[in-house]
Amino acid sequence: MKFHITTFGCQMNVHDSEWLTRALESRGWEEADENEAQIYVVNTCSVRDKPEQKVYSELGRIAAHLKRDENIFAAVGGCVAQQIGQGFFKRFPFVKLVFGSDGITNAPNALERIAEGAEDRVALLDFVSIYEERENPEERTVSIPETRQAFVNIMQGCDNFCSYCIVPYTRGRQKSRHPQAVVDECRALVESGIREITLLGQNVNSFGMDKGGVGVSFADLLKKVSGIDGLDRLRFTTSHPKDIEPEVIAAFGELENLCPSLHLPLQSGSDNVLKAMRRKYTQARYLSIVDGLKKARPDIVLTTDLIVGFPGETEDDFQQTLDMVERVGFESSFSFKYSDRPGVASLNMEPKVDPVVASERLMRLQTLQNNITRNCLKNLEGLETEVFIEGLSRKQDGDNTSWKGRDPAGRIVNTEMDESEGMVGLMVPVRITEAKKHSLNGERTGKPW
Ligand code: SF4
Repeated sequence: MKFHITTFGCQMNVHDSEWLTRALESRGWEEADENEAQIYVVNTCSVRDKPEQKVYSELGRIAAHLKRDENIFAAVGGCVAQQIGQGFFKRFPFVKLVFGSDGITNAPNALERIAEGAEDRVALLDFVSIYEERENPEERTVSIPETRQAFVNIMQGCDNFCSYCIVPYTRGRQKSRHPQAVVDECRALVESGIREITLLGQNVNSFGMDKGGVGVSFADLLKKVSGIDGLDRLRFTTSHPKDIEPEVIAAFGELENLCPSLHLPLQSGSDNVLKAMRRKYTQARYLSIVDGLKKARPDIVLTTDLIVGFPGETEDDFQQTLDMVERVGFESSFSFKYSDRPGVASLNMEPKVDPVVASERLMRLQTLQNNITRNCLKNLEGLETEVFIEGLSRKQDGDNTSWKGRDPAGRIVNTEMDESEGMVGLMVPVRITEAKKHSLNGERTGKPW
């Protein structure tokens, strides 16, 4: 069977799609171009604007392939599938499977049964309370990505119920994976040649604090994974400031291969807005975490997420967000204008901020951020670093080949080298020569390894 997967949304979805690809390949199925596939999977996200419309238009495109082969069918997974559920069956009869983020574990078997004709339609929408191990996590050992980077799931779902977020309703309550399963998967990956691992979860700092917990905290897990021989870089995402333990902060100073970067969503700098968002931390608590991190690892790079124009946000509240951005000195941030989403608590919160005011605030925030980013990158000119090569740079305008990689903090560094191939997955010592708007240029100073 030939299949094609389209993925919308976050890193967790990307990782889910990668796993699904491997699980289907292990059944002898083949990943195919959109024009050749017999089975289509759309892995959806409900966080950004108009998520349902995006999925509907993708399904509309898939429907056009029915002319080529009437046996073509589709599956819809992820957050929108969880929300709309069996509604997809009615609207798009060629959709034969819907699965939520907990249902994905059984999706490969369901797809196989449908393809064999043993099942007509399947809905995998139930939430589970304990993390279900997925089949063959070590399967990756047979085909590791050229970049030698991998994501490893450590938990599913979230218990936080931030007032603007749909995730606890679409991905279910938090369930941690067994720590030994995480460590075993990481070890198998490293043994097969992976050099960089990113531990993934909606809220990694509360790892173990649910029914699946066995007394191993996130800090303990970090130490175990970090100790795997041969692992060069370790990262994790996403962190909630409310749950970050002092031991995790200290780990940045203790674990050599733990990369000096942390994405720590602030969302707002105002205590009033944070309270309305149900974030359960204050500006002061956030700052004390930042102080701790900078003490543990002075070169740590902090990045964040920000929402402007949350219901009730005043000019003074917004000013506090600007102050925090300056004070912390985030090297970059993702900032969004608040927008009402169906099913979340903030939908009923008043007063809404005038969209014109919200747009103007977003512009002020982004201008400030761009200035800070520029200064941060400028300060790196002349410094030596190590770049892990991920592929060719988009721009190739010099005599040599330009390679794109990341420094330990995750910044993009483009470096021209004589080699026109074979550099992906290697570490290259580099001196930063020039700061661009969002990336760096460098020159090689030593042998790749
Ligand atoms: S921590 Fe808040 S914003 Fe993040 S997934 Fe959970 S509910 Fe959503």
